Amino acid sequence: MIPKVYTDKRYGLNKEQISNNALSIILKLQNNGYKAFLVGGCIRDSIKGENPKDFDIVTNCEPEEIRGIFRNSRIIGKRFKLVHITFANEIVETTTFRSGTDASSESIEIDEDGKIVRDNQWGTQEEDAFRRDFTINALYYDPYSNEISDYTTGLKDLKEKKIKFIGDPETRIQEDPIRILRAIRFASKLKFQIDHKAHNPIKNSVLKLKHMPPARLYEEILKLFLSGHASESYRNLKAFGIMEVLFPFHGVDIDEYHEFLVKAFFDTDNRIKNNKPLNPGFLFATLMWPRVAHNSGLKERLDFQKFYRVVATTIKEQQQICAIPRRFISFIKDIWMNQVRFKNFGKKSIGFTQSLRFRAAYDFFLIRGAIEPELKTDINWWTEFRASNYDKKNRLLKEKRKEMRKN
Ligand code: ATP
Ligand code: MG
Repeated sequence: MIPKVYTDKRYGLNKEQISNNALSIILKLQNNGYKAFLVGGCIRDSIKGENPKDFDIVTNCEPEEIRGIFRNSRIIGKRFKLVHITFANEIVETTTFRSGTDASSESIEIDEDGKIVRDNQWGTQEEDAFRRDFTINALYYDPYSNEISDYTTGLKDLKEKKIKFIGDPETRIQEDPIRILRAIRFASKLKFQIDHKAHNPIKNSVLKLKHMPPARLYEEILKLFLSGHASESYRNLKAFGIMEVLFPFHGVDIDEYHEFLVKAFFDTDNRIKNNKPLNPGFLFATLMWPRVAHNSGLKERLDFQKFYRVVATTIKEQQQICAIPRRFISFIKDIWMNQVRFKNFGKKSIGFTQSLRFRAAYDFFLIRGAIEPELKTDINWWTEFRASNYDKKNRLLKEKRKEMRKN
């Protein structure tokens, strides 16, 4: 099949936007007689006027040969080998054209006797295009011939703002259900519509997500919520009934927590805009909060035993779906535990505002205000208190205690 070929200028693409390292790799591969293109997200994002996150290269050169051409390279991956070419400021992933329908990199084809019939099989550029997930992700750009090759309807769909599966959506979701989350992610990030033909296949398969490897789900959840489009991701995940699959709310009425999540994601997206760091622990503390708040009674009166029980079950249940790294767990628990301290006004309050974990707990407390109007007075008090100097803090505490004695 001959792809449609367009010139880059027409689509606002030009070499200037491309990393020099990536350009140099392509040139070297081409000079060695190979085909080499930029592919995937970087082309999609550049044409949309967004800054590409990284530059993926694809070639008909096989990993060992790539390794031979670039001294600064390293082969990674067991079954589907790919090459990382390392520079001072970036790593450029260089992959060989692949056939096969599953791009999830770990997949193999097994025959009736359970034997591997196909493994690490390289393919043609055409096969490589058709094994990709969405039309907008299957564009190839040669920065030296200035041509974009389109085997599907990628450029048209980019223009029409459509996320369209390559091939039959149901089959492609069956092959790799994670593609559901990828569809949602790109729709949210680019503000595109998911092709209507894919709506039912997605809705019918959301439960399959529960059986995906927890490490992969964790990575996808981070990309959905920590890339600057958390609010859109939430809206889309909710519309497709995926929130309750990824975060099993059980008996909890998630609608009661809608405004809480909306505020949390609004803040998250703002932090990205302002180049502030984001902690995955904070994200998961938010996502699991409806269950913890609802089941622990933390909001009324703290019963430590009950609280710890609820925390343990909630985290355990969540871990069965996605693998939250251990190092975030104590941070998450601290955020929740520290919510109690906003109800206490004593000498320890001063130390609390100076502790390492105060900021996260305080930000979380503010978000709770979105659905707990009764917190308003305390929120205002703590906001003034934390910004005050030692003497003023003491004065505020004295006043507060006097006021509490009166009531
Ligand atoms: P970004 O890097 O901005 O998240 P991307 O499109 O580059 O977006 P990657 O995960 O880096 O996404 O994958 C690179 C390319 O590999 C994709 O553009 C797509 O063509 C292909 N690909 C990745 N994952 C899959 C998948 N699960 N199924 C099919 N193709 C995939
Ligand atoms: Mg990429």
